[in-house]
Amino acid sequence: MDCNVSDAGTAFWQTKSLAQMNAQEWESLCDGCGQCCLIKLEDEDTAKVYQTRVSCQLLDLKSCRCRDYAHRFEKVAACVKVTLDKPEQFEWMPETCAYRLLYEGKTLHDWHPLLTQNQSVLQNQEVSVSHYAISEEYIHPDQLQDYISEKR
Ligand code: SF4
Ligand code: SF4
Repeated sequence: MDCNVSDAGTAFWQTKSLAQMNAQEWESLCDGCGQCCLIKLEDEDTAKVYQTRVSCQLLDLKSCRCRDYAHRFEKVAACVKVTLDKPEQFEWMPETCAYRLLYEGKTLHDWHPLLTQNQSVLQNQEVSVSHYAISEEYIHPDQLQDYISEKR
């Protein structure tokens, strides 16, 4: 039996609100796209935020997973916890992100790992950053603006 589906055939993300989910359910919503681990630049004059295709130093671009998820906030000051306490953060999450979709009352896409039973969306080039991101380990901070991308 699908572990994400109850005896009644309903999935937890269909029956629970984000606030009602337990930690394991909450974490399982992340599809591993890596999009929220791309560095953003903010224009100090206009407050406009620009997405780059430069990834956080801790993002493993082969797996698209954080290399030290347990200690991410200690190691990367800019790492932001996805939480309902800051609903404004969902605006800059990608439109494909499960947290944003459910927060906006939408449903998961049919390629989501919870539905396909694959662990991540690495093969989905429309979603995963794995094939186009470059790690900040190889980019000088002054060069970040050269990597601004429209893709979200
Ligand atoms: S954008 Fe959403 S689904 Fe993608 S890695 Fe971040 S939290 Fe996970
Ligand atoms: S510390 Fe980990 S979770 Fe946070 S932005 Fe970097 S790679 Fe992503």
